[in-house]
Amino acid sequence: MSEQKLPTRAEDFNEWYNQLVLRAELADYAPVRGCMIVRPYGWALWENIQAALDRRFKATGHLNAAFPLLIPKSFLEREASHVEGFSPELAVVTIGGNKELEEPLVVRPTSETVIGHAYARWIQSYRDLPVLINQWCSVVRWELRTKLFLRTLEFFWQEGHTAHATFEEAEAETRQMLDVYTDFAVNEAALPVIPGIKSESERFAGADRTYSIEAMMGDGKALQAGTSHNLGQNFARAFDIQFLDRDGERKYCWTTSWGMSTRIVGAIIMVHGDDQGLVLPPRLAPIQVVVVPIHKNEDERALVMESATGLYQEMVKVGIRVKLDTREGLTPGFKFNDWEMRGVPLRIEIGPKDVEKGVVVLARRDRPGKEGKSVVGREGAIVTIASMLEDIQLAMLAKARAFRDARLHDVSDYNAFKEAIETGFARVWWDGDAALERQIKEETRATLRCIPLDQPDQVGTCFMTGRPTRTQAIFARAY
Ligand code: AMP
Repeated sequence: MSEQKLPTRAEDFNEWYNQLVLRAELADYAPVRGCMIVRPYGWALWENIQAALDRRFKATGHLNAAFPLLIPKSFLEREASHVEGFSPELAVVTIGGNKELEEPLVVRPTSETVIGHAYARWIQSYRDLPVLINQWCSVVRWELRTKLFLRTLEFFWQEGHTAHATFEEAEAETRQMLDVYTDFAVNEAALPVIPGIKSESERFAGADRTYSIEAMMGDGKALQAGTSHNLGQNFARAFDIQFLDRDGERKYCWTTSWGMSTRIVGAIIMVHGDDQGLVLPPRLAPIQVVVVPIHKNEDERALVMESATGLYQEMVKVGIRVKLDTREGLTPGFKFNDWEMRGVPLRIEIGPKDVEKGVVVLARRDRPGKEGKSVVGREGAIVTIASMLEDIQLAMLAKARAFRDARLHDVSDYNAFKEAIETGFARVWWDGDAALERQIKEETRATLRCIPLDQPDQVGTCFMTGRPTRTQAIFARAY
């Protein structure tokens, strides 16, 4: 698989990405345009992502459930901006069991409507609130420009849907889940994301407020890595989700929704990968450590395998996800390249000389070459291995943050802006409107990624209108 070299990132970032996804066996193209087959290695990565998110959802009081794949088309039409936003992306089923259906069904593009319908029946009184539910599923949006993981026609995700008695509670939930995504991105995926609020033109169809986390990819472009929406009472009114409040009055609920998808796998590849291939953060890597035994004859093999198997078992015991590469007929060099391409964070080499000396060789994936190699005593190696995995995790975050910060340009005029977005993000003082955003997008292809939650307590001058403003915004070209 890995004899042929990948194009370098500098040569062709897109081609590097596409080939790497295939070569590392994360995913494959499907017979239907824009769909994706997630292969076992990619799915194992997604399972670790799911587990890390699911833990956080449960810790904040959410329960999982499953809602149907098919939704009556009329449901989407009940919320005007929702149907307007989603209708160009819908897959519609008109025939079932060979018969024309009385009412067309859509394959869910997102589930606010069908879940709203259920909540209207489940919620009667303030005592039933809040309702905090999440589902893991796949959804379909008829995307025109697709790219494996980043934007597919069918994608896997989780969608949280909650209902509350007050605006304040719904807003607190929306922000809490944005914090959960930020915490996951930073501490599990080693992605230094910027949490912020979207402008009106980038808002989710049917939301009052959309928050997102924005990440910078290895080519300086932005990727929206997760979103959290305060839906106000829009869906509650459309689906009649009402409750009898403490004061005896019937009121509409306030609802939220939030989602993160398999797109995050693309973010991990694009942020951390290098010219040799994937570099996976240890906390999410399907294989955290690979042990490669090196031997030339049967005697050496027996000697090396004893040491390698012992260390392998020690690692299994402490819960390290480890693989012992006993494949025959492949040179150690081939195996090294192969595991490097697959992004395994730590490689352990054990040869006959190492056994004699009572040592093993560790090679860090995040620091290729000599710099990342170290020789440690075989006794007690397990402690070094565990702490090195932690160190790799932190070093990956620090490296990604340094890269991002170096390309996060503070600019104060349009010319500098145009230059900034060639290599990264432009941070500007902003007092513009939707028309100005549109003009900027047409002229530069950059969009307003978010208005960061973290704002300097200062007054600046809008880089386009020249008016004073307290708000900074981030613009970038995006995936
Ligand atoms: P949304 O429901 O539009 O807010 O989407 C929730 C999240 O799903 C977004 O923040 C994206 O990260 C992700 N997402 C949206 N569309 C796609 C797609 N076509 N393929 C993969 N991920 C997507």
